[in-house]
Amino acid sequence: MQDCIFCKIIAGQIPCSKVYEDEKTFVFKDINPKAPTHLLAIPKEHFATIQEIPLEKMGLVKDLFTSVSTIVKQFDLGANGYRLVINSGEQAGQAVPHLHAHILAGRHLAWPPG
Ligand code: 5GP
Ligand code: ZN
Repeated sequence: MQDCIFCKIIAGQIPCSKVYEDEKTFVFKDINPKAPTHLLAIPKEHFATIQEIPLEKMGLVKDLFTSVSTIVKQFDLGANGYRLVINSGEQAGQAVPHLHAHILAGRHLAWPPG
């Protein structure tokens, strides 16, 4: 999508600190980290939210979670715990309308979130 920041990151038009990439997904460091480890895992195909994904393309959610699992194992985030967050829509504070899962770790994470 032309004006999407994350599509531009995937295309290499905006620099980022990439930690993982495969055919369907891309994982990079959040530019404004909210925890010692703060990564963003995104599908390469542009959808704003989960509910925009048509049923026949739901496989990309599996691809996304598979990449998250790979990263969790690579950085051993399961040892002390981590949080996976998908903000969707205005009240949830979604600022970038390209589906993304935040991977947060490295400190105690309060519950419930604000
Ligand atoms: P949201 O609020 O939409 O759930 O999260 C968007 C996240 O994207 C924020 O945590 C923000 O710091 C991050 N972000 C926004 N623009 C950029 C960018 O250009 N590069 C990187 N690496 N992260 C970004
Ligand atoms: Zn996009």
